Amino acid sequence: PSVFSAIEMAPRDPILGITEAFNADTNPGKINLGVGVYYDDNGKVPLLACVKKAEAILIEQSAPRTYLPIEGLAAYDKAVQELVFGADSAVIQEKRAVTVQAIGGTGALKIGADFLQRFAPGAQVYISDPSWENHRALFESAGFKVNNYTYYDPSTHGVNFAGMLADLKAMPAGSIVLLHACCHNPTGADLTQAEWDQVIAVIAANNLVPFLDMAYQGFGAGIAEDGAVVRRFAATGGPLLVSNSFSKSFSLYGERVGALSVVASSAEEASRLLSQLKRVVRTNYSNPPVHGGKTVATVLTSPELRQLWEDELAGMRVRIKEMRDALVKKLKEKAPSHDFEFVRQQVGMFSYSGLTKQQVDALRAESIYAVDTGRICVAALNSTNIDKVVDAIAKVL
Ligand code: PLP
Repeated sequence: PSVFSAIEMAPRDPILGITEAFNADTNPGKINLGVGVYYDDNGKVPLLACVKKAEAILIEQSAPRTYLPIEGLAAYDKAVQELVFGADSAVIQEKRAVTVQAIGGTGALKIGADFLQRFAPGAQVYISDPSWENHRALFESAGFKVNNYTYYDPSTHGVNFAGMLADLKAMPAGSIVLLHACCHNPTGADLTQAEWDQVIAVIAANNLVPFLDMAYQGFGAGIAEDGAVVRRFAATGGPLLVSNSFSKSFSLYGERVGALSVVASSAEEASRLLSQLKRVVRTNYSNPPVHGGKTVATVLTSPELRQLWEDELAGMRVRIKEMRDALVKKLKEKAPSHDFEFVRQQVGMFSYSGLTKQQVDALRAESIYAVDTGRICVAALNSTNIDKVVDAIAKVL
């Protein structure tokens, strides 16, 4: 027997399993609502015009492919910091924020988790119930004990805020609290500004460590609006970790572009943190890839391309909202005894639709694929498939 012979099969990824089943389905009218990407009204992953223009500039430059610094492209890190914290942010002016380019949002979370494991090894991590399915596995693989805090309330299809606050108050000092900055995945249920105020106050009072995951900036109310929560946390003085991703907002999934930002209490502390973050990166993959970071930096630092990006991102945001409205309106016609108004209150790409596992299974018999939890990707709906989806949902209710 070799070292490999006793290795067991790892559990299947539940969402990739849906994609496999979808791919194997020979029905030409099949619809995949289980995905985690934005599709345009033609059911395609868009290549944004701002990206095409930035790439044309980069090709023209024909630059040699040297290594980037360990922390990534300086222009990218600076642009990300200004996007996440606001260009006029005190944490930037006081040099208390450090940002490292990361391999997507996942890579940013992993750098943050490894960094925290090094300097807060005894801390426990708390994630929302439910959360993005990789959060738990990622922090566990970094060596943490991961707990849930109360979040979703199936009876209201919104947040159980009293439960969440009670759980936050009961966490031991020093605990790491993973929060979705906006567009909660998988539920689509976000906190109100007044609720954030209370969360921020409890986290500061109890010396908890907030880790904001922002994978969907611009898909909620707008770029600045969605980022506002990061600014409010930063204003409390830190400590604070923020992972962000451009996978969705730039439709650059496969380029793996994200960043981790950490807020320190002084510029001197920040430089020590940066040196340690670089060590985490160096021992994982040495330095990040060039193309995605350069593309995003080119767009964010060119006034013309940036405006184009903001317009294109607004287009994605508005289309999702239109699909929410259409879904609610059409379900009201086809299934008048069921109330889906909550779908309009939810934000971002996803909705916890309230469909049960049995109903999801029944939809699958119609070649419509959703996650067992009832999560649907609203961004996978379009003017061509929505009637078919509504008819099928009405049938299985
Ligand atoms: N965090 C959340 C909440 C997500 O939904 C996702 C992607 O689906 C990520 C992080 C990871 O983003 P990326 O694909 O950039 O690694």
